[in-house]
Amino acid sequence: MGSLPEGRHFFHGDDGYEVARRATVWNQRVPDRYPDVIVQAVDADDVVATIRYAKAHDKKVSIKSGGHSWAASHLRDGAVLLDMSRLDQTSVDAEKMVAVAGPGKGGSVLAGELDALGLFFPAGHCKGVRIGGYLLQGGYGWNSRVYGPACESVIGLDVVTADGEQLYIDADNHPDLYWAARGAGPGFFAVVTAFHLKLYPKPPVLGSSFYAYPIECADDIYTWARQISADVDRRVELQIVASSSVPNAGIDQPAIVLASPVFADTEAEAKEAFGILDRCPVVDKALIAMPYVPMALPDWYTAVMSNYLEDHRYTADNMWTSASADDLLPGIRRIIETMPPHPSHFLWLNWGPSPQRQDMAYSLEDPIYLALYAGWRDAADDEKYGDWPRSNMAAMAPLASGIQLADENLGARPARFVSDENMAKLDRVRADYDPDGRFHSWMGRV
Ligand SMILES: Cc1cc2nc3c(=O)[nH]c(=O)nc-3n(C[C@H](O)[C@H](O)[C@H](O)COP(=O)(O)OP(=O)(O)OC[C@H]3O[C@@H](n4cnc5c(N)ncnc54)[C@H](O)[C@@H]3O)c2cc1C
Repeated sequence: MGSLPEGRHFFHGDDGYEVARRATVWNQRVPDRYPDVIVQAVDADDVVATIRYAKAHDKKVSIKSGGHSWAASHLRDGAVLLDMSRLDQTSVDAEKMVAVAGPGKGGSVLAGELDALGLFFPAGHCKGVRIGGYLLQGGYGWNSRVYGPACESVIGLDVVTADGEQLYIDADNHPDLYWAARGAGPGFFAVVTAFHLKLYPKPPVLGSSFYAYPIECADDIYTWARQISADVDRRVELQIVASSSVPNAGIDQPAIVLASPVFADTEAEAKEAFGILDRCPVVDKALIAMPYVPMALPDWYTAVMSNYLEDHRYTADNMWTSASADDLLPGIRRIIETMPPHPSHFLWLNWGPSPQRQDMAYSLEDPIYLALYAGWRDAADDEKYGDWPRSNMAAMAPLASGIQLADENLGARPARFVSDENMAKLDRVRADYDPDGRFHSWMGRV
């Protein structure tokens, strides 16, 4: 019949169930969705036992690693929820430049461990996010404009299938399942117990530029940013963040911050790569202008996290676009006019033009990525602020080619997230590996 790991599971109604359920969600806005049982796995055997249990009881399975899905995609009524956060081991082979890491490994933790060894992996920008969900959806991390979405650096995975079978999958073994694991995100149909990762040498120089502009410069900034998007050096990650204040920079007014990491071989190269940002036509109006500062990865994490405060309630939504600034500006003005207080913010990420990608489920991107994050503290404000990301992205949807799964809100706004051809293939591969629909899928799709 399959029995659950002793002492590591909570049925709905058990003492400790609600604590365990809430602990699976980073966001303080925990949806009212209740799995039947939550299993806190510690190894692959626990996963196999749980899948067998789910099969024997004809239950669907959902999975979480870091619980940083903005929509808490893993919380599904009646499911067997596998909490994989305790599988956080790592082994590094510095000679072969590969690592094997559990899905519960924090991206920032992995980055720190590799940094100490003179190695590098394009881990995500934020503390707390675990590699489980991050790598399955694509993974937009440090120096990702050079190394590609982090899933391109996943060379193999250890998984447990819907049958409870343990497999190693890569380009030669179960290639279709390996193909799906790189881009299916919260719709992946197996449980990952470890990722095999390609590593890179640590870039010698990490620096940053920092410009803050008053919000009145919005039209000029976004028009210019769109004009230069294809010319920004790929080692520079141009992120433009608009918010109602920038407390960590002492700015108590709506502002637009351009904080851009650069990874380079020398400081001279880094400064040269940043040159384009100092030629912004309204640079003389900047509240702060720092063309180059050396920066260590831990400082970057601290700076980024000032926009993602832990004790807040969040919603997010997003779009990829190749539209012109003229077409985007009306929507951007509406976003700015309706922006909730900090830490809510609007991100413009300069991503493309993209090179040819590997053949994998991940298949949808555009030169520009726009994302909205609403963050507030008081549950009484849910209605006031919660729909800001969705409604603004819905209004701009005619200008979008689709969305990223990183910041998905598919339950509230179904959208395209891979090419049509790849969506059809995902359905075929799912039918092969999960014919009974054991695993929960995306909360919405078109
Ligand atoms: C504060 C914050 C900052 C972020 N910053 C970035 C960023 O810089 N770059 C970026 O690309 N994304 C970023 N994200 C998005 C984040 O990468 C995704 O939400 C990702 O899915 C989170 O992974 P997780 O394991 O922490 O989340 P989870 O919620 O645990 O996982 C998300 C989904 O992935 C699937 N899944 C997770 N683990 C497994 C597993 N072991 N086996 C099978 N399926 C699994 C499940 O379907 C699950 O619902 C950020 C999110 C937050 C909240």
